[in-house]
Amino acid sequence: MQEPANWNPALLSTMTSHTSCQRPGSETNHLVIPAVEHDAPGFPCKWQDCRSTTCFRREVDLMRHVKSVHVAPKAYCCLEPNCGKAFGRKDHLQNHKRNRHPDNH
Ligand SMILES: [Zn+2]
Ligand SMILES: [Zn+2]
Repeated sequence: MQEPANWNPALLSTMTSHTSCQRPGSETNHLVIPAVEHDAPGFPCKWQDCRSTTCFRREVDLMRHVKSVHVAPKAYCCLEPNCGKAFGRKDHLQNHKRNRHPDNH
């Protein structure tokens, strides 16, 4: 795996910069992106009743949020007797155990 000897990052910008002056409807519009929400700066959670206003920069981050907060919000349960607390993240459960049940290791 090696880059071509004449590779130049500036080349890439000249290749992509000209697309910004294309107008929709012109005959060179083969690069027009389908009408999805590309004006959004990231991936906000659209889950109903989600209180998070975080805009995730990558889709995987959003998916992780959806999984841990909405799909399986209480995946990690404290197994201590008479506790039954549940958490969405393993480290939160571990924190809880450390704080609430420091003697039961
Ligand atoms: Zn959410
Ligand atoms: Zn507990």
